Amino acid sequence: MTRVEALGYLGFRVKSLEDWEVFATEILGMTATRAAIDGEEAVVLRMDERAHRITARVGDDELDYIGWQVSGPDALDEVAAALTAAGVAYNDDAGLAEMRGVRRLLRCTDPAGYTLEFHYGATMLQEPFVSPTGARFVTTAPDGADTGLGHVVVVCDNVEETTEFYRRVLGFKVSDHIIPVPGMLLTFLHTNPRHHSLAVAPVYKDGPTGINHFMVEVDDLDVVGRALDRVHQRKIRQLASLGRHTNDKMLSFYVQSPSGFGIEYGTDGLLIDDETWSVVTYDASAYWGHTFDPA
Ligand code: FE
Repeated sequence: MTRVEALGYLGFRVKSLEDWEVFATEILGMTATRAAIDGEEAVVLRMDERAHRITARVGDDELDYIGWQVSGPDALDEVAAALTAAGVAYNDDAGLAEMRGVRRLLRCTDPAGYTLEFHYGATMLQEPFVSPTGARFVTTAPDGADTGLGHVVVVCDNVEETTEFYRRVLGFKVSDHIIPVPGMLLTFLHTNPRHHSLAVAPVYKDGPTGINHFMVEVDDLDVVGRALDRVHQRKIRQLASLGRHTNDKMLSFYVQSPSGFGIEYGTDGLLIDDETWSVVTYDASAYWGHTFDPA
């Protein structure tokens, strides 16, 4: 079975590169560099040894692409075969691979319309990652398993079709579900020990599709607390208060990114052991906290 390994990187189109640069470094504790990508100015964000985890280029404040990492050339061949078998067209784009600093890259669109970049051979930099806020981002499990940059939650108007694509074509496994409000079913999917790398949400109250939020995890609750202090000090809009999620046990808060969508900043996320895992449905997203849009 084809198996995507981890959420390798994300790309965004943003109205303000400057706002993202400040937010990512001073609030989240990532490092930022300016680069020219395909002739366009970009802000490239690091959170570990990898050359880029998040890349922002100028545009309309939206998710541009999701980079799904696979373990190597054989795994990427398997993804290509699985896409072909499923009738999903893809581009094997050497120029794009060069731009992303990976050895090979296949690009396709998922059933909800999101652009996916399957890749292997990401560039690791000799220059150590040193967070300006002292953050250490969790991108591996204690046993060394790659757990990726975090997770991404996308809103889809065809959740069942999209979920089945990730499950049957790409080898994701359902972690669990949450019904946060009656009639709304969220589906969480994992592809490594991280509880979820992807969650699929239906359109809510005629709201928009697009990214709902992405999550990054740090290894220290005090780093989360200090980030929250800075959010308050700068009067940045919080989308949910500090709280503990029911399903992945993440202790986190949600803040509005400069592009409007959410960023979840947390610690203490659950790791899954597929040998013993069983899918359940939670009737709430948090044990406590996560109050929406706190004043
Ligand atoms: Fe989340």
